[in-house]
Amino acid sequence: MLLGCVADDLTGATDLALTLTREGLRTVQVNGVPDEDLPVGDVDAVVVALKSRTIAAESAVAQSLAAAARLRALGARRLLFKYCSTFDSTDRGNIGPVAQALLGFAGGDFTVFCPAFPRAGRSIYNGYLFVNGVPIDESPMKDHPLTPMRDANLCRVLQRQTELPVGAVTYADVDAGPAAVAAAFARETACGRRALVLDAISDAHLRTLGAAIADLPLVTGGSGIAIGLPAAYLARGLVAALTPPPATIAAPAGRAAILAGSCSAATRGQVARAIAAGVPALRIDPLAIADGTTNAATVLAFLDATPGEGPALVYSSAEPAAVKAAQERLGVEAAGHGVEALLAEVAAALPARGYGRLIVAGGETAGAVVGALGAGTLRIGPEIDPGVPWTESLTGPKLALALKSGNFGSEDFFLKAWDLLR
Ligand code: ADP
Repeated sequence: MLLGCVADDLTGATDLALTLTREGLRTVQVNGVPDEDLPVGDVDAVVVALKSRTIAAESAVAQSLAAAARLRALGARRLLFKYCSTFDSTDRGNIGPVAQALLGFAGGDFTVFCPAFPRAGRSIYNGYLFVNGVPIDESPMKDHPLTPMRDANLCRVLQRQTELPVGAVTYADVDAGPAAVAAAFARETACGRRALVLDAISDAHLRTLGAAIADLPLVTGGSGIAIGLPAAYLARGLVAALTPPPATIAAPAGRAAILAGSCSAATRGQVARAIAAGVPALRIDPLAIADGTTNAATVLAFLDATPGEGPALVYSSAEPAAVKAAQERLGVEAAGHGVEALLAEVAAALPARGYGRLIVAGGETAGAVVGALGAGTLRIGPEIDPGVPWTESLTGPKLALALKSGNFGSEDFFLKAWDLLR
């Protein structure tokens, strides 16, 4: 194992693990700080998914250090701290404090910060973060409920979060190639700067940066910062070979199910498309869950009565007006928790009923389901749609699992995903 990664949320971890896999590293994802005897097998990279993006900075630091120490114990010689490509954080953290603590742990004079993800519309120019062509403080992220971004200058944002002196390596140097970037690193660190924001407006820039940062004990960024690392590790002999990403994944025989707890527009479209295509479907409603008319037994009875191998669909996905009505009756948290807890209880009962293939829609929903299944360690398989791979559970029951962030995936996702299983 070469590269140990700490990601600040679950679907971000999957995104990074998929990027590394696509670029040739054999990668597993671990949900939560791994055990000492983690069965990672023969891999190049391990990505630990935390849920630390918006918790108190001290807890985020403690969890991240615990994850880094475990990764180091498992053999990691390089560390990567992954956060969102919109640099989601407040003036108190958590990106700055976690990066500073991890730099202290990893050693090294300095680290880099690069949330750029040009293909998803996130680019950095002269230290300013743009989202779909506008500075982030003019994008919808300015109104994010937890981490509103009101300043597009990442050097200023970061300096408010860390004691490390912040510098930048900008477009002209990045565009000129790895040697120019290395010279810029020397120039900045000679001035005492230890936290360097890196420009990138294209994948070519990210590949240049990969070559320039491959020897750093710690790098930080969005999933884009990983694009150039595998090839750079190969060039340095740090990995013996790059492994082509798997085109299919071996899935246990058995029945298939889709559990959708996301109300995002993409998931609602996928649910409608699956129903139109004839997939047997059961709609669950937070109010019926709250009054007990819908429970794990009623949902499992529906699944048991579904003929054939499936897939069968259980969904709570609803239009915004229905979600609002349920939230007003039950409270936002209770409405969400009721759905998550029910889908998690149903998921946990599926393996014993012969289910081996499962799609889960919704980030929070997926977190609840993998927790209930004990699917703490996942080997990354083929990409179904951008950002969503099939995975294979290495702990808990043997399953092929696809964890889909609510807004990801094309409309026929629930129909086509099965074609990649064998
Ligand atoms: P996404 O990835 O789309 O954000 P999540 O699973 O992260 O999806 O979040 C969706 C949240 O909404 C969950 O807490 C889920 O339990 C809750 N939820 C799902 N269906 C309903 C519904 N019909 N009414 C109210 N809340 C719901």
